Amino acid sequence: MSSLKPTIIIGAGMAGLACATWLHRAGRPVRLLEAADAVGGRVRTDLTPEGFRLDRGFQVLLTNYPEARRIFDYRALNLKAFRSGAVIRLADGRETTLQNPLQRPLAAFSALTSPIGDLSDKLRILSLVRHVLKHKPEELLARPATATLTFLRRYGWSERMIDTFFKPFFGGVFLDRELTTASNFFEFVFQQFVTGEAAVPALGMQQLPEQLAARLPSGAVRLNTSVAGLVDGTQVRLTSGEVLEGSAIVLATDGLTALRLLAGRSGNPNDAVAAHALIGPTAARLTTCTYFATEGGHSPGRNDKLLRLNAGPNALAHNVSFPADVSGAYAPAGRALVSVSTHGERSLGEEELTARLREELAAWFGPAARRWEHLRSYRIAAALPVYLPGQPARQPLKLSEGLYHCGDWAAYPSLNAALATGREVAEMIVEK
Ligand SMILES: Cc1cc2nc3c(=O)[nH]c(=O)nc-3n(C[C@H](O)[C@H](O)[C@H](O)COP(=O)(O)OP(=O)(O)OC[C@H]3O[C@@H](n4cnc5c(N)ncnc54)[C@H](O)[C@@H]3O)c2cc1C
Repeated sequence: MSSLKPTIIIGAGMAGLACATWLHRAGRPVRLLEAADAVGGRVRTDLTPEGFRLDRGFQVLLTNYPEARRIFDYRALNLKAFRSGAVIRLADGRETTLQNPLQRPLAAFSALTSPIGDLSDKLRILSLVRHVLKHKPEELLARPATATLTFLRRYGWSERMIDTFFKPFFGGVFLDRELTTASNFFEFVFQQFVTGEAAVPALGMQQLPEQLAARLPSGAVRLNTSVAGLVDGTQVRLTSGEVLEGSAIVLATDGLTALRLLAGRSGNPNDAVAAHALIGPTAARLTTCTYFATEGGHSPGRNDKLLRLNAGPNALAHNVSFPADVSGAYAPAGRALVSVSTHGERSLGEEELTARLREELAAWFGPAARRWEHLRSYRIAAALPVYLPGQPARQPLKLSEGLYHCGDWAAYPSLNAALATGREVAEMIVEK
């Protein structure tokens, strides 16, 4: 039975939108309150006056994510896939290309006079591929975990293979070059790379949230609407002072905001302790994405649609991609776009980081890189939740009667987690 009052969802990121989508499909009224000027949360794309599409941070959709397949219309997104593999810049400046390293490990690592890994390393990749293919995604996420680095060493990979392949590749996925991230998540992500593609919608990552928002009734999403606090039961107070009442409240914000809203409910200090226990850890990983435009239309990526990874231990340009090689709509005609990700760097300001990146890029792609136009930098302090061994792949989603929590902070650092927890909360509300 549909309740007259809507479910109030705080935050229109992927989790809040997924929750709203499933509730709406079940005939339930929803109201999404979003502090920002558009939907998407961490999945946003800016269109510059010159016609570049800049995703706010390098990000891809892994097309086999079970939750993504449930909710998106892939055809309408017009997905454009990166080629599976990477060009790796080794510490000594040499480059080596891996095509399909996870789908065809023997061919990929042997097709070169491979400076990456020895034969037993390659056989171990095959063994890990077989292992992940035997399991469902949720089984891998439920497996006992160590730090990914410990997992790789126990599996027997050489330090060289770890330094030249696993750290640059999965360090970029986790935004954690030291691979402290829990190994159950590594196994899940490894499986997703083996079974699917890494893709972006032709018009940029923000098409993902926009597709979900477009399916909701008009007026369901209120933008520029920030929630200041939770009032009694199922009421929220906006920063404007307005109080709204729903049949249920869903916290679909980042972890810290969820904690602040929950802890501040009654002014009782015990609430803060209880809130911590419910929301779990709120530490986050930082990344900076720096965009450049080349002088002419010639792409330094040679249109091979491969990600560039830097295995240099002291590098700042950790990974580099050329988004317009994958989807032409990312750059205006005759220009090429360069996206450079730097993970974890806290001490450098934008100007100094940009200057140092130019020098590294000039050594990598040639001296013209010194003249590339700096378009914009995005420093994303809370890009991903820290996910360590021992953390459950699901925090409690029902916090109290009529109060729920969803988002990657309630699970593990991935779009799949945001979408899954949003759906699960919707199902709890519908079944209530
Ligand atoms: C640079 C980067 C790269 C990434 N790469 C990948 C990748 O390749 N693959 C992958 O699977 N995942 C990736 N992720 C992670 C993925 O983007 C997130 O897991 C997902 O977007 C989280 O969605 P969410 O809805 O849980 O949270 P958010 O996107 O953080 O949404 C929370 C929303 O709540 C709103 N909000 C906060 N406070 C309030 C308030 N008081 N009132 C109202 N609204 C409020 C925010 O404005 C925001 O819109 C990446 C993330 C980043 C930043």
